[in-house]
Amino acid sequence: MTVPSIRKALDAITFDGPVIGQDHDGYDRYRRIWNGIADRRPAAIVRARGVEDVRKAVGLAADLGALLAVRCGGHSLPGLSTCDDGIVLDLSLINDVVVDKAAGIADVGGGALLGDLDAAGARAGLVTPAGVVSHTGVAGLTLGGGMGWLSRRFGLTIDNLLGAEVVTADGRVIWASAESEPELFWALRGGGGNFGVVTRFRFRMHEFGPIIVGCWTYAAADHERVLLGFDQLSAAAPREMTTNFSFAPSVITVTACWSGNADGAASAVAPFGRLAAPMSGGFGEMPYITLQKRHDEAMAWGMRHYSKGGFLGKIDVSTIARMNEIIATAPATGTDIYILQLGGAITDIDEHATPYSGRAASYYWITNALWDRQADDARYIDWGRKAAKSLAAISLKGNYVNEQADHGKDVAEKAYGAEKYLKLARLKARYDPTNLFRLNQNIEPRAT
Ligand code: FAD
Repeated sequence: MTVPSIRKALDAITFDGPVIGQDHDGYDRYRRIWNGIADRRPAAIVRARGVEDVRKAVGLAADLGALLAVRCGGHSLPGLSTCDDGIVLDLSLINDVVVDKAAGIADVGGGALLGDLDAAGARAGLVTPAGVVSHTGVAGLTLGGGMGWLSRRFGLTIDNLLGAEVVTADGRVIWASAESEPELFWALRGGGGNFGVVTRFRFRMHEFGPIIVGCWTYAAADHERVLLGFDQLSAAAPREMTTNFSFAPSVITVTACWSGNADGAASAVAPFGRLAAPMSGGFGEMPYITLQKRHDEAMAWGMRHYSKGGFLGKIDVSTIARMNEIIATAPATGTDIYILQLGGAITDIDEHATPYSGRAASYYWITNALWDRQADDARYIDWGRKAAKSLAAISLKGNYVNEQADHGKDVAEKAYGAEKYLKLARLKARYDPTNLFRLNQNIEPRAT
């Protein structure tokens, strides 16, 4: 399918939202996604304003056999929310968030960002747990799982999903929930964008007060003492506490976030500042919204990025030694191993209740490589690949589909495990038999 023929077919349809073709002034702005490596040139970007626009774009892509990339916040690490010569269906104009405070529910447009959800929740004194960078898209994050500061207390984002409105490959608009289309609802909670375009999510919200955040930096030379102490304190912490660290070439940054009753906060958070002699740090009350935006600038749009993640059962002396070996070979800037504590409410849900794998893990790791010059691509990607491979060798089975720089059937199969992958593949055959939605961690349809 050629770019002019896609353009001609799009021109014959009336959309409520704008269609940005290659000759449009805003083309370069709208074709960009978060990861600067993904420099692609779609035939057009359809900026949908509602469900009907989504249905028309999906129908057209199916009729033409054109590549279709679906985009919410544009943070796909492998660049799957854009494509060359196909159609990008951009949901970012469908970003309304309606909170029903009395019912403790949020209805969220399929193009909203975490910042939209957090802000609407904060106005009502409520929260839905999500990720840690506010310009990430709710849709992409939710469809893979959604881990963040409040997962240990309130569960993953998918554990708070009550229902979703989905436009399927054949143009139907389906409400999926525990009562209606339960198998589709199961698939949406970790199966990624494989099953259709979600135009609306319904989330449970929780009453939420102030949080206490402590953050300290330590010399990387103290890594063994700091990380063993971190693991010991984290393992004993209640689910009101979530901890993380970033192990970079010269510095380890430890953060502890307490979301429970303020009375217990100081005694729970302060010990993370005594793991060795800190170079800097302290703790205090912080609005949740401020915490959510804390890394927005460091993770700004346009940088080049390569990262991969996995699940860890424990952090012991040999894990720490391996991390140290990995960091010793890292480019000096823009690299780290980031660890997020899991457990708590995540483990309340049965492993088979959702496609997301890794409920038994104590930690999630991600090796991050962030740089700005194309000339450095090979150096950073090479380090990122080797670093992730080395940590993967001591990791638990399963993986998080949302944070894999590479993609392909093997990535999805490994992440879900054979049993869940087969169940997903059968559901894929039911809801998307021609694999129209294939720009994702793809699940190939399997009829039997
Ligand atoms: P997009 O690029 O817009 O979409 C990614 C994929 O999701 C698309 O390819 C498509 O397959 C699908 N998709 C998007 N919108 C829809 C829709 N409406 N309907 C159907 N399918 C759709 N993950 C965490 O769990 N916790 C974190 O704290 C976290 N932090 C992150 C911080 C940064 C800076 C980045 C880059 C990623 C982070 N992630 C985190 C990973 C994140 O969950 C994934 O990158 C996710 O895919 C981003 O969603 P998006 O909507 O922004 O991405």
